[in-house]
Amino acid sequence: MNGMTQTTQREASPVPVPTDLPADSLASGVATLSSPEVLSPEAPTPDALTPDAPTPDEAVERRRAAISPSRAKDFRQCPLLFRYRAVDRLPEPPSQAAVKGSLVHAVLEHLFDLPAPRRTEEAAQELLDPQWQELQASRPDVLSMFSGPEDLGAWLAEARSLLTQYFRMENPTRLEPAEREMLVETELASGILLRGFVDRMDVAPNGMVRVVDYKTGRSPHPRYQDEALFQMRFYALMIWRLHGRVPARLQLVYLGDGRTLTHDPKEEELVALERDLESLWATISESARSQRFAYRTSKLCSWCSFQSLCPAFGGEVPPLPPGGVEHLLTVQAV
Ligand code: SF4
Repeated sequence: MNGMTQTTQREASPVPVPTDLPADSLASGVATLSSPEVLSPEAPTPDALTPDAPTPDEAVERRRAAISPSRAKDFRQCPLLFRYRAVDRLPEPPSQAAVKGSLVHAVLEHLFDLPAPRRTEEAAQELLDPQWQELQASRPDVLSMFSGPEDLGAWLAEARSLLTQYFRMENPTRLEPAEREMLVETELASGILLRGFVDRMDVAPNGMVRVVDYKTGRSPHPRYQDEALFQMRFYALMIWRLHGRVPARLQLVYLGDGRTLTHDPKEEELVALERDLESLWATISESARSQRFAYRTSKLCSWCSFQSLCPAFGGEVPPLPPGGVEHLLTVQAV
């Protein structure tokens, strides 16, 4: 055993809050992957490697800069990619995978606006069209992703089947989330500002917290689970620092293959994450002050929108935008 457990169960209990956390899981703090299938031993699929749908943190207006899970991952992947997203803030073309993620997230968020007994699969499917219209109104360029009506129809059918999968994994008529699409911001003792959006937070009557994030891709191979949990630990750290209580459970719901990855975090690992983020920020701020953001190639370059501006692909790096570095440095209060 490597600390990971697989089961063939559907979600253990439809109770709305994490009062049912198994004692052994709480004691061990290991990650658990629940799935109706056996894990594939192959290398991660392109789905697993494709960056997740843009999170709403990218839509936060330009105020004091903050470290988000996505930007932290960007810098660790490639400092130049981080620069183009966080400093230059260059636009990126929409991708079918990312926009499908945004659409399914929007439907699931609005599903919980309905009274509990009406949160049926049929209701979710009925929400898809209006949410798609709304998405097109806010981002007219999304239609450019499709070669024609057939392509669009197939894409919408995939979104519908992800919603069907959701109802195989959770019963929303028995859930009463405390928060949905929650903006969380907290400043660490070191003055570093963290920011993120939590898909869903459930709070039990005894105050235990479960943080839930939906993914429209497939679950990662065990080798990559720790990386997948980074974002959830980041949220746990913010919630702990804000409210003084470590969330009891972190839960990633992978609609792409119907698996759920859960982890019960411990205070020590969140302390370790805080140190890691401080060290990451020291490296980022050094890059910013020296105005040098190196490129780092990997297989993820295949999904990078900035190849034409990347020396690894024959491109030329443009000058930094005025004020960009100064704004980035506002992450840490002085
Ligand atoms: S193509 Fe690769 S190396 Fe170049 S900026 Fe993008 S992620 Fe970095």
